[in-house]
Amino acid sequence: MNEAPNPDVCPYCGGKVELVDSSEIYGRSYGLMYLCKPCEAYVGVHKGTDKALGTLANKELRDARKQAHYHFDVIAKTSLINEIWGKYIPGLSNRNKAYLWLSMQLGVEPDECHIALFDIDTCKKVVEISKKAYKK
Ligand SMILES: [Zn+2]
Repeated sequence: MNEAPNPDVCPYCGGKVELVDSSEIYGRSYGLMYLCKPCEAYVGVHKGTDKALGTLANKELRDARKQAHYHFDVIAKTSLINEIWGKYIPGLSNRNKAYLWLSMQLGVEPDECHIALFDIDTCKKVVEISKKAYKK
């Protein structure tokens, strides 16, 4: 589902990205993470692997992604999607249906519809789209 390539070059400074233990950032170890030290840009990995969860994010982008998750989760972590989008899709969980719906709203491929892959502008769109939908 998540096709983020492992980052080797920092998108902000073009510098080399290191694979480090998360204790370098959090003081405690939660596994590995990709880090550009000068930019304080990082991204975690899928548990027990070295596969990046998304693209490298600095503080501003991490905050934007948090906002996007906060609002989209109102839809993705409930059954609200069935009220927003009445179509029944066999075999699709509410969460996956919510992501499919979001991908259509944003005009991105369902495979690429992952907040960890989004830039700041897309995150802002996610907030707007989600708010509009759940406030109805
Ligand atoms: Zn950097």
